Amino acid sequence: ANMREDRIEKTKTVCTYCGVGCSFDVWTKGREVLKVEPQIDSPANSISTCVKGKFGWDYVNSDDRLTNPLVREGDHFKEVEWDEAIKVVADNFKRLKAEHGADSMGFISSSKATNEESYVMQKLARQVIGTNNVDNCSRYCQSPATKGLFRTVGHGGDAGSIEDIAKAELVITIGSNTAESHPVLASRIKRSQKLFDQKLYVFDLRKHEMGKRADEFIQPAPGTDLVWLSAVTKYIIDQGWHDKEFIDTWVNDFEEYYESLKPFTLEYAEKTTGITQEMLKQVAKEIYEAETTSICWAMGVTQHQLGSDTSTAISNLLLATGNYKKPGAGAYPLRGHNNVQGCSDFGSMPNFFPGYEKTTDDDTRQRYENLWQVDLPIEPGMDNHQMIENIHEGNLKSMFILGEDTGIVDANINYVTAGFEKLDFMVVQDLFLTKTAEYADVILPACSSLEKDGTFTNTERRIQRIYKAMEPLEGTKPDWEIIQLIAKELGYDWGYEHPEKIMEEAAFLTPLFAGVTYNRLKGYNSLQWPVAPDGTDTPLLFEDEFPFEDGKARFYSLSYEKLYETNDEYDLHVNNGRLLEHFHEGNMTYKTPGIVRKTPNAFLEVSPELAEERGIEEGALVRLTSHAGSATGEVHVTDRVAGKELYLPLNDNGKSAVNFLTDNRVDKDSNTPAYKEIAVKMDVIRKK
Ligand code: SF4
Repeated sequence: ANMREDRIEKTKTVCTYCGVGCSFDVWTKGREVLKVEPQIDSPANSISTCVKGKFGWDYVNSDDRLTNPLVREGDHFKEVEWDEAIKVVADNFKRLKAEHGADSMGFISSSKATNEESYVMQKLARQVIGTNNVDNCSRYCQSPATKGLFRTVGHGGDAGSIEDIAKAELVITIGSNTAESHPVLASRIKRSQKLFDQKLYVFDLRKHEMGKRADEFIQPAPGTDLVWLSAVTKYIIDQGWHDKEFIDTWVNDFEEYYESLKPFTLEYAEKTTGITQEMLKQVAKEIYEAETTSICWAMGVTQHQLGSDTSTAISNLLLATGNYKKPGAGAYPLRGHNNVQGCSDFGSMPNFFPGYEKTTDDDTRQRYENLWQVDLPIEPGMDNHQMIENIHEGNLKSMFILGEDTGIVDANINYVTAGFEKLDFMVVQDLFLTKTAEYADVILPACSSLEKDGTFTNTERRIQRIYKAMEPLEGTKPDWEIIQLIAKELGYDWGYEHPEKIMEEAAFLTPLFAGVTYNRLKGYNSLQWPVAPDGTDTPLLFEDEFPFEDGKARFYSLSYEKLYETNDEYDLHVNNGRLLEHFHEGNMTYKTPGIVRKTPNAFLEVSPELAEERGIEEGALVRLTSHAGSATGEVHVTDRVAGKELYLPLNDNGKSAVNFLTDNRVDKDSNTPAYKEIAVKMDVIRKK
């Protein structure tokens, strides 16, 4: 479109700050963002937005934006033309493939980029390079939830819409700081509480806003959610409160599963989690009495060594009580980034093509090989975590990282950045010179969501269109265009003139998106996957059969082993999460002056009890030390945390104290770092 500098334009877009996927018109005059205006027909949010969606846009005009490709020359970067930068990337990719093979190369896609960009990234890895080493940052957050859902109900997505959560009689949130991380979704719950006495049970370590509003706020010991979930399920079955008809018709493996619950008695659960038996019974009774229960969970569940198993336990509980296949019921993993769902959906995963079709499935691979005209790699590739390990082991020689500040958001960043230094060749594509980019050999300047077309998929599997509100800042290009240029230089001329063409190809190849077209996504129209060829979408994920051969879901038996504990020396537990005003590592929101004025920096939350015990006051400076490393922080004394719990926001203006403390432990089934299992000791540097 020809955008006139002097005219006010209104363009529909989707917020880039969380998985709720609020949509709105953005008013612009040239490059200036004047305001955002949600619409009554904005599907996820209607007329609401939160502070980030409303005010978080100035970063697009930040002076820190990269506007030139950069190529390393010794210890500094040289500005080069686009042609030259692309050639350097392609030449090195060719050389590395010849010297070490395609599997010596790794690709990380971005959950901030569009579906179409995730699609071309995995196409670059698979078709052009010939490796399945492609992943995205959902590995750091929500992979365990997806795993738990695949095991039990066969689809890794929210069971219904955000609107359905608002209809539930009972909402349980576990390890979710909903009011700060998913603000508009939290408002829907708050409204339902008022309007029709929706009950809210909040399980968390920290008494955040939703904890304060809850009918019951329950603090289990860190890393023990699996135990209380299994004990509540066992108690429900023991009472005969389970949904026998639903289980008979729709779920396999009940007997075996019930047997596996034997150890999860109320006594054992009380001892392990610290939740009283009375409360466990009360929770069971609430679930039994409610017509519909929705369970929402986030990183407080997933970022543990038992993250996948705990997510599985949630789904088991919902199956046992017949809480699937009806609006208001079901599993709601709350996706963090705006496009965490879509980035995985569109194939940036080491074991899946788009639409979660396995790379090892011959028919699927054949379909791609026919269209792409190459032999494709079969065995699953490395995930993000394995990529870093394989650098240290000498197997991975290059990385291409798109829109992801891996060097501060991955766990144990001393280990990660030491890995970057060992790489033969590294490309980073981003808006800013991030900490990660400092290690790169080539930096490619990308453009923001306001400067391109495409689609995002929010937490409720809703695919929504974004439209270009302004031309790319001079010198930058959309991610999909840059990837296409690299492919072309390597001899694969894809010829996409517009993201619409990429979506056409993805829809043609992927049954899950068969009926997705830009025409059906016009304006505020949206589609929730799976989308049938005729365009019928699926607001309620399980209406008829579950996506297994026999159409039935399955119970998945679990056991519990205590994998995380504090001890006498490392006696404090550090919890971590988001701040309302800031996004993720802060590359965008800390470049937005209005937000920085309000919340200039992060801090360390300390309980009043602990502050007294250590003789420290508000504003004190302390050093935390874990097995992996140490970090300093300024103390904020608050009763949001209790006892020996600390809380450190991860939105830390590039300093990322948290990840100097996290280590290499991961969820055993998904390799998601156990960010939430950090034991530390605290030394006082300054008392107040
Ligand atoms: Fe953006 Fe999430 Fe806030 Fe909506 S709730 S405006 S998607 S950050």
